[in-house]
Amino acid sequence: MTVHLADAVGELLKAPSMRIHYLPGAPERFYTVRAPSLLDQLADAVANSSGSHAHTVPGPRLPLSAEAIDAWYQILTSLHTWAKDLGVDRGGSAAQLLRRLLVAAVRSGHEDTARMIQKRCWCGRAELMPSDCGRCWVHRIQGLLITEVPDREIRGAACTHCRSEQVDPDTGTVVMVPTTTTVIERDGERLRVPAIIVRVSPAPWNAEDDTDLWVYRMCRACGAEGWLDYTTETAA
Ligand SMILES: [Zn+2]
Ligand SMILES: [Zn+2]
Repeated sequence: MTVHLADAVGELLKAPSMRIHYLPGAPERFYTVRAPSLLDQLADAVANSSGSHAHTVPGPRLPLSAEAIDAWYQILTSLHTWAKDLGVDRGGSAAQLLRRLLVAAVRSGHEDTARMIQKRCWCGRAELMPSDCGRCWVHRIQGLLITEVPDREIRGAACTHCRSEQVDPDTGTVVMVPTTTTVIERDGERLRVPAIIVRVSPAPWNAEDDTDLWVYRMCRACGAEGWLDYTTETAA
């Protein structure tokens, strides 16, 4: 398959729009978000990695990996090497530099560099994470960012799988209600937090389409997880 240089660079620089779905049973219910380009997302992730994580949800989320930082510096090193070879100004952001490299590399006499840039940027495979792509940057960044989507706590969301005791403020009696909060330990402190957390990710049944993302829900009280439905409890 022939992949054009402009397409390969464009795949790293385009701002993808993604559809976020709520429920597997209702594919027509979604909203659309426009994400920064893959290159900008990686740059942001690396720039923010030394910041505070005080507001993120504890749990299975991975901290920014050494691999993300490694990928970022490999990309910068390659961009600067090509800029030197092609006599291109090295100032500005990585995205600006990559755009200038694209312009310079298509001039005749630079076919080898152009082919190298294309190969490194994108293998041309549309799948989310093909196993045999040879680690192009598009797929490498996608693989890193998917593990970086932060979990979100949903205040007021009730688990459909478990119930917990609650004291009725009027009568003083203990009643069983769908769980909305749970107690976790964070930094040696016991905190009451929303029970339901969600993670936005590509669905396993639709993994080749990374523009369709689904909301995966987890209950920290009972451990139920999956493409669960939940109800928002309204104060009666
Ligand atoms: Zn690839
Ligand atoms: Zn639960």
